[in-house]
Amino acid sequence: MVFKIVSEQGKARLGKLKTAHGIIETPFFMPVATKAAMKHLSKDDLDNTNAIITNTLLISLKPGLEIISHFNGLHNFMSWDKVIFTDSGGFQVLSEFFYDKISESGFYFKSPYDGKVHLLTPERAIEIQNALGSDVAMALDDVPHHNSSRSISNCVKRTHEWAARCKEAHKNENQLLFGITQGSIDKKLRVKSAKFINSLDFDGIALGGLGIREEKKAMYNMIDFSLPYLNKEKPRYLMGIGSPKEIINAVDHGIDIFDSCFPTRTARHGGLFTKNGRIDILRGIYAKDKSPIEKDCTCYFCKNFSKAYLRHLLKSEVPLAFRYVSIHNVHFIQEMMKEIRKSIKKNYFDDVKKEYK
Ligand SMILES: [Zn+2]
Repeated sequence: MVFKIVSEQGKARLGKLKTAHGIIETPFFMPVATKAAMKHLSKDDLDNTNAIITNTLLISLKPGLEIISHFNGLHNFMSWDKVIFTDSGGFQVLSEFFYDKISESGFYFKSPYDGKVHLLTPERAIEIQNALGSDVAMALDDVPHHNSSRSISNCVKRTHEWAARCKEAHKNENQLLFGITQGSIDKKLRVKSAKFINSLDFDGIALGGLGIREEKKAMYNMIDFSLPYLNKEKPRYLMGIGSPKEIINAVDHGIDIFDSCFPTRTARHGGLFTKNGRIDILRGIYAKDKSPIEKDCTCYFCKNFSKAYLRHLLKSEVPLAFRYVSIHNVHFIQEMMKEIRKSIKKNYFDDVKKEYK
């Protein structure tokens, strides 16, 4: 069995997901290693991280699949022996740097490196992820951005057709394949998408196209509308969510897997996570502060340095500052995930929910 629920508290679940690189406990959070590396963080800085997600599209263009295949996959290439997810490329392809046009066969996109136009079909998205050798591949979807003039129901229809094509094309028994539901913040479409993607019997199901610009309440509503139609025995992945409070709330609504570049991006701008909420380390009140970012934090920075020192490094734009702030925020989220898992098992998740502001 690919996924097993070990313990539940309310809708929150503690589970075990079996992958080619070991069993990983859910709920878990994945930092985003876009170009087969995290910005500013080395492998050693990710000691309490069990899984990462990489960018299929960028890696397939540079260094290219030939080099990755020569190394027999991404794990060997980047010397990472824990779990790797790969996105399908659907979200990136719609950004202005890539997007060319869309057709029923797939996305046409421009390489940001040489301007050449490529076609990304569902079959090609699976072929690339197979070559990368990730533990979990994602089906290609068509993400309806809220500010887009494209019809949301057409995006959902295309997402469903492409999901079926991805499922058909996927033959790798060492790699799990997750489907993605869409529907923006339209209840009817979300329900329709949850039912359809669930019917294709993927190894796990993601909720895509949320956490973009919609109100938080709308996001939680969409989770609540979708989950009753998803097989309870499969892992549920909310894509693109990474603030501590949102992760806790989403776990409380029944989500098992998260990824986001939010912790590191926010950190680089001085936004640091604490149990009392986010602080802005650049503020003057920290100029002489001798305490660590968070009391009891076991990250490399907090064990050795002060807020005042970090504020100085960031204000002086010393490159090391970006590493320190990223270490803290990722470490903070991963320790929180550990505590969430433990609390679901030992029945005190409600206390943990209150602990993080
Ligand atoms: Zn810390």
